[in-house]
Amino acid sequence: GEPSIVDGKCIGCAKCVKVCAAGALEMFYTPEELELLKQWEAQHGAVEEELDPAEKELRAKLAQYRGVWVFIEQYQGEAAKVSWELLGVGKELAATLGVKLSALIIGHEVAHLCEEAFAYGADQAVVLDESVFKDYRTKPFTDAVCHLVEKHKPEVILMGATGQGRDLAGAVATIVKTGLTADCTGLGIDDKRNLMQTRPAFGGNIMATIMCDRFRPQMATVRPHVMAMPERKDGSKGVVILEQFYLREQDILAKVIETISDKGGADIDIAGAEIIVSGGRGLMNKDNFALLHELAVELGGVVGASRSAVDAGWMPHSRQVGQTGKTVRPKIYIACGISGAIQHLVGMQDSDVVIAINRDAEAPIFQVATYGIVGDLFQVLPALTRRVREMKG
Ligand code: FAD
Repeated sequence: GEPSIVDGKCIGCAKCVKVCAAGALEMFYTPEELELLKQWEAQHGAVEEELDPAEKELRAKLAQYRGVWVFIEQYQGEAAKVSWELLGVGKELAATLGVKLSALIIGHEVAHLCEEAFAYGADQAVVLDESVFKDYRTKPFTDAVCHLVEKHKPEVILMGATGQGRDLAGAVATIVKTGLTADCTGLGIDDKRNLMQTRPAFGGNIMATIMCDRFRPQMATVRPHVMAMPERKDGSKGVVILEQFYLREQDILAKVIETISDKGGADIDIAGAEIIVSGGRGLMNKDNFALLHELAVELGGVVGASRSAVDAGWMPHSRQVGQTGKTVRPKIYIACGISGAIQHLVGMQDSDVVIAINRDAEAPIFQVATYGIVGDLFQVLPALTRRVREMKG
């Protein structure tokens, strides 16, 4: 039916307009009301919001928090690319807010990362360089970040939605008692300096914009490859803020004894690949993935998979593309025998070129495909591989 306003409840603040995820609400004033509003403002000045003392106190507290921080995730002194991607979006947020962008660097012998952070846009680097931070461990990193947050009071903290980032962000948010939005796909600032954190919700069927307007810092994680890599400007200068946080090794219960890399396919980073040949349930069995490997080898790409293929045990989870797998942004994504469920699409729809091979012309994958081949993959794939081989001579 016709929407109606509950008299005495609606104060015309228009907050509902901003928070409606579907953008379904609008605020209308009749020409007469607009005229009255103008006259009133001409006499009294713009309407000042009346605040109760608790609200005033809250706003004063929030106002103490300034600046955008990006946690620079590193492994043995090498930064994760997602951290630089976050500096790119962080720079835009900081510019809108009119504040500095800081890189938060925690580790051992990590001074060189400051230069890199400045090259990717950071104005300053907040650094903790001590031997207890050589390997990532939840407790010491959490304690250190919480200490620095309390000291510097940043208003926004961004971290990569990686194993480390997810672990650390959740632990820090719990202790500093603030909100955290995981796996954001879009970040912006509203007219009240709040971070607008957009992410897919309800299985990817709607995009929700989440706000944390009563707590600081506002924390968000973003998956690798969701944000574009900023341009690197070597030689950029910034301010290094060298911090100290006293922790004794003997007080830390978790010890890193050995690091073993997963050779079961996890060593191949599909998230960073330029060409991905992905297979789904249409491949029928594990052995048939050899067809994808052959084409991938010819193209210099890697093999990915849908969740159905992973659940069937045909490929390891590290190769899964989608909402509960990896987000990829290759130059070419070839989807073979994949129907194109929304949970798969959210992980690959930003690829430059999508080529879909499916025998069902109605499959949703064709809606995001640059080129669609309706046909039997067992005929199309070998033909495609043959043709690529011929072209390479
Ligand atoms: P199907 O949907 O069964 O499609 C198989 C396709 O192969 C069909 O379109 C068929 O026409 C085609 N085909 C069959 N034989 C041939 C042939 N010989 N030649 C050509 N085409 C052929 N899915 C993901 O992929 N990644 C995720 O991260 C993910 N996360 C999820 C999270 C949640 C919370 C939920 C509920 C689901 C998630 N899913 C995810 C599952 C998703 O909903 C789909 O079930 C899944 O993507 C389907 O995989 P598929 O396309 O391989 O299989």
